[in-house]
Amino acid sequence: MNNLFPPTPVSAVPVADGSAQFPIHRIYCVGRNYAEHAREMGADPSREPPFFFCKPADAAVPVPVGQTLQLPYPSQTANFHHEVELVVAIGKSGSDITVERALDHVYGYAVGLDMTRRDLQAKMCEGRLPWEISKAFDRSAPIAPLHPVAQCGHPSKVGIWLQVNGKDKQRSNTEHLIWSVPETVAHLSRFFELQAGDLIFTGTPAGVSAVLRGDTIEGGIDGLGTIKAKIV
Ligand code: MN
Repeated sequence: MNNLFPPTPVSAVPVADGSAQFPIHRIYCVGRNYAEHAREMGADPSREPPFFFCKPADAAVPVPVGQTLQLPYPSQTANFHHEVELVVAIGKSGSDITVERALDHVYGYAVGLDMTRRDLQAKMCEGRLPWEISKAFDRSAPIAPLHPVAQCGHPSKVGIWLQVNGKDKQRSNTEHLIWSVPETVAHLSRFFELQAGDLIFTGTPAGVSAVLRGDTIEGGIDGLGTIKAKIV
């Protein structure tokens, strides 16, 4: 049967060497996965099971190397926050994946920003309501090019940082993830059948803060390059 209108093109993230692009299936995100960040959000950083939320695939905005994304300040917020995160790209589908085999399902990694309407998130939390309007809005997931595991390995103990207007805001190490990448993949795959094309934002370290129009955000992860965005 004919489509009533042309389907929305699939969002994709380029591979860093420019050889191909990674078509996005879904975007999963882990909440409060660094103890210091859990504390700054007023939560208990104990090792309770990880929790997840999703963003639509078309919330991803690929940011080419060396370019600055012009990121519009979103509607309906007066407290727009940055969260720099290690992003896992799933290259092989599976469900009930074991921790031991989890890394076999990872194609590569990237630096991403889980942009957040913090005021709405607080309101939703307060009312025990879903987080979508605070987390899953348009352009809420800027992402730098992907680095295949074959080239970058598994960044399990590397620096992760973010600056606003050249000033340090977030600086930590992926070794401080409460739930490691293999644990996160294994856990998530018990609830969803992971597919090639899935992205997992693994959570942000402490130091999240508000940005305003005119601010420039730059985030990076050792071995995975940087991502830059200007709020307009
Ligand atoms: Mn996050």
